[in-house]
Order: sequence, then structure tokens, then C-alpha cells
Amino acid sequence: MDIINPATEKKIMEIQEDDHHGLENKFRILKEGQPRWAAVPLSTRIDLIREFHQLLEPNKGELAASLTAEMGKPIWQSMNELKGAQSRIQFFTDQSQKWLAEEWINREDATREKIAYEPLGVIANISAWNYPYLVGMNVIIPALIGGNSVMYKPSEFSTLTGRHIARLLYQAGVPENAFQVAVGKGAVGEYLLGLPMDAYFFTGSYKTGKSIAERVASKLVPVQLELGGKDPLYVMDDLEDIHKAAGDVLEGVVYNSGQSCCAVERIYVHANIYDRFIESYAEQSRQLKVGDPMDPTTQVGPLSRKAQVQFLQEQISDAVGKGAKILAGGRKLDRPGYFVEPTVLVNVNHSMNLMKDESFGPIVGIQKVESDEEAIRLMLDSEYGLTAAVYSRSFERAEAVMKKMDTGTVYWNCCDRVSAYLPWSGRRHSGLGTTLSYQGIRAFVQPKAYHIRD
Ligand code: NAD
Repeated sequence: MDIINPATEKKIMEIQEDDHHGLENKFRILKEGQPRWAAVPLSTRIDLIREFHQLLEPNKGELAASLTAEMGKPIWQSMNELKGAQSRIQFFTDQSQKWLAEEWINREDATREKIAYEPLGVIANISAWNYPYLVGMNVIIPALIGGNSVMYKPSEFSTLTGRHIARLLYQAGVPENAFQVAVGKGAVGEYLLGLPMDAYFFTGSYKTGKSIAERVASKLVPVQLELGGKDPLYVMDDLEDIHKAAGDVLEGVVYNSGQSCCAVERIYVHANIYDRFIESYAEQSRQLKVGDPMDPTTQVGPLSRKAQVQFLQEQISDAVGKGAKILAGGRKLDRPGYFVEPTVLVNVNHSMNLMKDESFGPIVGIQKVESDEEAIRLMLDSEYGLTAAVYSRSFERAEAVMKKMDTGTVYWNCCDRVSAYLPWSGRRHSGLGTTLSYQGIRAFVQPKAYHIRD
């Protein structure tokens, strides 16, 4: 398997994919190792993860450079991702004792009742490339702390990162029979579906997530899916600082070249401020510095996958063919690498793919609305349900919109944001189950009910 730098299209390295025999062998190692790992006291497992957290610090520069080389995010964003991953790890090391401790729940006459939390067993984590440290930590860390062994299948676009994670976990003292990396493309992920895993945790596209859920359904094991989004953002007409809001929203669109599951994917603006908003937004978009992701002043790097360049160009031409107008950007950059200009389209509507299908790139459509009711109707017009955002001076007015959203997350005056303390979950085509928060600690264990009569 070739590892390609998306900013230069040059080969970084060639890596051997795991074959079926290798994957079965790794599974066997994890199966044998899991009871031993579960027998390690919870406090010791947490200490080993703390050690892993410590090891990230001196290695950050090298890890960030490797991440930028293989998937193209600007180097300062790679550093931010590592910092974010560290604080997520800390959340889990701080909170897990409390949420995994046995709970004495009730006493009924002579009978005492308690809940104990036990690991699921060997879990598969088939993962995405866009934030490999963040989405990786969401699963790997609570799974290991919970006493599971983990078969981690990084995306083929973030394999080097997957190997770094394994190296540092082992260095921290996590045994190799508690954590293994499955190296390869989709077919390797697919092979894991046939192995007798005790649970599947997937981060990736709706299409792959759905096929995984269907394939493993008859096993009756837990399946969690963190999938895509078409996240809407509504700008109300009571804003004081339209320029600042436009800058905020732009960042929510283009950060990580728009390749965030919770990136702002469609914008609705109240007619009273529409003209001023789009003018400021397009102006700030034109000023973004696009280019070499290793340059610390670059704001937008390349896309990670070659095929996505054409996909975005098709979305743009479909929209333009149906009457949209390009206000900024619109082209592929004339240089090596998978670069698409940050693009702003107006005169858009929901007959256009741009407003319905996940773009996963630095492009966005901005639609004018006449009322909050119209905004709500359009925001709800999606099969996805990951996040939705409202910008307004009034919390009451924003809250009335947020309450109507059928999404796992809502934002007031912010967007494209994840907190370790809050549950991260998508509805409908955006997923199934929850990571992060105490619920994302409990997602990796199963309760056992004890009825104890003295
Ligand atoms: P993808 O579905 O193409 O691939 C995800 C993983 O699945 C990769 O490791 C891939 O090798 C593997 N895979 C591919 N085909 C498979 C198959 N048939 N069986 C088993 N495994 C298979 O997704 P991607 O391009 O890596 O990620 C981008 C998507 O992920 C976007 O839709 C994004 O919104 C979503 N995402 C969601 C979240 C979230 O928290 N909700 C976070 C990050 C990314």
C-alpha cells in the first residue's frame, strides 16, 4: 500500500497490508490477551494510559509532521489535534474510576443489589483519517481502560499515525496482546467483520457504516457508528457584529479543509442581513492562505483524497448548472496536490447536491431565508443529524430553533466543536451510539446485575 503526501502527490512510503492469516493471528493474540488485560487493576490500566499521555508531549512535533505529511492538514492544526487528544485522554483518566466503579444501588429486605461494569471483550475499531488522534482516542482509550483488547484499523490515509499510536502505547506499557493495529484499506476492515469480535466501533462514512451494521447484525454484538453530517448553521438578523460572525462561520467551514464530521456544511442567513453577511464572508474567504501545509502560516491545506477533488468540482458545477452563483473560489489549484480553493456559492437551494450531500471540503452554499420558521424547515431537510448551529444575540430565540433540531449536538454562537465532557452522537444517517462524556466511558463496558442475599 502506497502512502501518498496529498500536498505533493509524492510517495512517502510503501507499507505491507495485513493478509487474512496476519489478521487472524492478531485476533488470536488479542483474544488470549484480553482476560489478562482485564485482570490488571483498573487503577493500573489508567496509570498506563497516563504514561501514554505523557509520552505524547515530547513526540508532538514528530507526530504532527507525520500526520500533516500523510493527510495534509496544516501543521498548526496537527499540533492542535494532538493537544486536543491529550485533553481527551486526561478526561478519561480523570473520570473513568468514578464511572466504572461498582455501584451499590438498592437493598430490598435481606437482598442487596449492585451493578458491576465488565469489559465487552475484543473490540474492533475501524476508523477515519480526518482526525485520527481525536476519533482514535474516543474509542481506544476508554476501551483499554474498560479492560477490552482493541484491534485498531486506522484509515489507509492515516496508517502512519496508527502505527505511532501503537508504538507509544507499547512504550507506555500497554501490552501487545491488548492492542493491535490492522494495516490496510477497506478490504482489511471488511475482513474484520467476519472475525468473532465482541463489538464494532466505526468512524467513517454513512455508506460504509450502514454496510458494516448490516454485515454484523446477526452477531447481536454492540455496534456503534460515528458517521457523516450535513451540518446546518443559521445566522439570525439580530447580530451586532456580522463581520466577526462571518469569520467564525468561515473557520467552521474551512478548518481541516472542511474535512470535519461537524464542519459547517450549509449556511442560512436571514434576509435582513444577508447581503452584508455574504459580502463579509466572501471577502474573508478570498483572503485565506491556501498552500503548503508544512508552512505555519497556511490556513487551508490540500484535501486528503484525490477523488474528493472531482467530487467537489461536480457539486460546484451541479449547483451552478441549477442557478447558483460563485462568490469566491470555485477552482482546483493549478499545482501538484489535491487543492481546491475555499469556495462560496449563493443563490443556492435544496435541489442542489451541494445542499444535501456531505461535501467534506472547503466549499459551502449560503441560502437566504425570510424567517426563523423557514430556516428551521430547511435545517431539518436532511437525512443527517450530527450538529446544528444558530448565531443570534438572543438565547431564547436561538433556543427555540435548537430545540427543534433532530441532531445529537446544537451550538449557540459557536460551531464545529467537540467537548470530551459532552456526549458525541449522531442521529439517523449520522450514526448510532455515543462516545465521549461518561456515556462514552460506559459504552465500552456491559453492566452485570448482582442480587446478593446475605
Ligand atoms: P470511509 O467510510 O471511507 O472509511 C472509514 C474506514 O472504514 C476506513 O478505515 C476504511 O478503510 C474502512 N472501510 C472502508 N470500506 C469498508 C468496508 N466495506 N468494510 C469495513 N471497513 C471498511 O470514511 P472516511 O473517508 O475514512 O471518513 C470520512 C467520513 O467519516 C465522513 O463522512 C465524516 O463525516 C465521517 N466522520 C464522522 C465522525 C463522527 O464523529 N461522527 C468523525 C470523523 C469522521
